[in-house]
Amino acid sequence: MNSPATWFREDFTHTGSSFGLRIVRKLDEVQSPFQKIEIYETTDWGNLMVIDGATMVTTRDNFFYHEMMAHAPLFTHPDPRDVVIIGGGDCGTLREVLKHPGVRSAVQCDIDEQVTRMSEKYFPELCESNADPRATVMFDDGIAFMANAKPESIDVIVVDSTDPVGPAEGLFNRAFYENCRKALRPDGLLVQQSESPLALMHLIVDMRAAMRAAGFVDFAILPFPQPCYPTGWWSCLIASKQPRDLASFRKADAAAKAFATKYYTAGIHQGALATPPFVAQALAD
Ligand code: SAM
Repeated sequence: MNSPATWFREDFTHTGSSFGLRIVRKLDEVQSPFQKIEIYETTDWGNLMVIDGATMVTTRDNFFYHEMMAHAPLFTHPDPRDVVIIGGGDCGTLREVLKHPGVRSAVQCDIDEQVTRMSEKYFPELCESNADPRATVMFDDGIAFMANAKPESIDVIVVDSTDPVGPAEGLFNRAFYENCRKALRPDGLLVQQSESPLALMHLIVDMRAAMRAAGFVDFAILPFPQPCYPTGWWSCLIASKQPRDLASFRKADAAAKAFATKYYTAGIHQGALATPPFVAQALAD
């Protein structure tokens, strides 16, 4: 199994590193109107989804990302009922959001139906809550969706997108964040995957600046492991519409949660709120 042909490798030119997985075979490939989606069977990581050459999801390690993107903001919000996920077409974040019994509606708006169709076929466990009556799985540009969203109608917006290039580029700017802010209720929260603090701290700084320019007030960056993404270390950025201490969350509710997780716990959430000095320095005004 050591011939180069049996390895999927993604080179990260901006970090001068790469990530590889030993593959058994390519299971599928589709060129959608938006991006090229490939599915591989790996020897040790289950299935692998790749979009435009970038690793998106593996069976083995997606729980870090999906659990932190969903449970960290939902346990930070006082009473999340209406949730919107922009992107997230693999449906893993939707599944985690719907674990919260207080959520009464969760809309997932991904631009690319093919991502969800591929996930249903190759990552069925991520899609197991798609038929939940509280769920709406729709396909549209998240930029347009937020521009047309009813003001003050959403409690938590989760931006679970690809990197800020191609169709996702417009999900990382002030105009998009202004629309998110308008659509949030006063105690609403925006959370967005914010790439690697080690490799792309400047992107996090720029995202926060654009969110602040759009009127968001307080911010928390929560790092977490994500072995299949560049540097193996990822993050999400939480922003609040009104002033609040994002370091405080519903810790007792998180500790007493009635659903299973593989990574997220109240203790993990608390630990992720500790800011490493190099991150604090980069974020210092
Ligand atoms: N966890 C992944 C990561 O951080 O690399 C993201 C996974 S998820 C599959 C990313 C999704 O964002 C893709 O399905 C893609 O179609 C979607 N996406 C990209 N641009 C979008 C846009 N403008 N509106 C809605 N969805 C978008």
